[in-house]
Amino acid sequence: MIDIKSLNLQEMTQLLRDMGEPAFRGKQVYTWLHKGVTSFEEMSNLSKPLRAKLQEQCYITVPTVARKQCSAQDGTVKYLWRLGDGNCIETVLMRYHHGNTVCISSQVGCRMGCAFCASTIAGKVRDLTASEILDQVMFTQLDSGLPISNIVLMGIGEPLDNLQNVLKFLELVNSPDGLNIGMRHISLSTCGVVPKIDELAALNLQLTLSVSLHAPDSETRSRIMPVNKAYDVEELFAACHRYFQKTGRRISFEYAMIDGVNDSDQQADLIAKKIRGMPGHVNLIPLNEVAESPFKPSRRVAAFQKRLESHGITATVRRSLGGDIDASCGQLRRKAMEEENR
Ligand code: SAH
Repeated sequence: MIDIKSLNLQEMTQLLRDMGEPAFRGKQVYTWLHKGVTSFEEMSNLSKPLRAKLQEQCYITVPTVARKQCSAQDGTVKYLWRLGDGNCIETVLMRYHHGNTVCISSQVGCRMGCAFCASTIAGKVRDLTASEILDQVMFTQLDSGLPISNIVLMGIGEPLDNLQNVLKFLELVNSPDGLNIGMRHISLSTCGVVPKIDELAALNLQLTLSVSLHAPDSETRSRIMPVNKAYDVEELFAACHRYFQKTGRRISFEYAMIDGVNDSDQQADLIAKKIRGMPGHVNLIPLNEVAESPFKPSRRVAAFQKRLESHGITATVRRSLGGDIDASCGQLRRKAMEEENR
């Protein structure tokens, strides 16, 4: 069976051609799918036999709302979607002045093992398909009635550990016949899978690359992020400099501030030293507490920010949204599903 929503327009056109249909049929089907139809029945400008033929050979991914929580504090909505195979993933809708933003997942679970993050506790179950990544944007928009203008690939999973499907998703969501969301409105966050950063750089996309740094020295970083043992912080910064050389795009460094672990002035100085030579931006995230983790939020966020700025590095402190519904950075976890399985 073909996962039809993961096809781009060219592949869709070919599929319909192979069924003996004229070229324009591909675009018709593509347009229906990107409007969020959940069955071939709804494709009213196709003949009944063609709809039946599509039904025989293809399937349409349709996530259902397993749970939906709305923050009373700030209007953030967290969706728990149930996928076709019963697995669940989370998507967060945030309402900013600059537009509605969805934070989407790229995998069911995560295998990166960051010590402060709840999404990785149960490991990775599987990669999401391009259609399943797209569905999060599409069905959040349909369910909420709010137009989505920005996307951040910062939910569950490591996007560069599922690069092929993520790239396909980017092509789909960016397409003029689909949701048509501009690359400049999309951010992709990685824990630092160096060879994949180079692969991405080669494509020269206009998206924003966010790098989860969390420590500028290898000793600390290896302690909290196992990926650092494979690609250490020196290699990571070298890749970031190459990325900037190739794309001309400013990189955003994510930095969750952990009490007594990564919040010293010396560490701020080291960040500045390593960013020198490219226009980096540091996004300080007040650590969100995760029950299973021993780490506590830093009390030095403002001082750290000042220290970075004293070196000419722009640093902002991320406003936390959705704290009352466990929707903040690093808190996404398949809690509901675990409860159901008990
Ligand atoms: N795997 C990708 C994207 C998902 S995480 C990555 O690592 O970048 C999105 C961001 O939330 C990352 O910067 C991650 O390090 C951060 N994060 C994880 N747990 C956190 C926590 N408890 N508090 C604050 N930020 C956290």
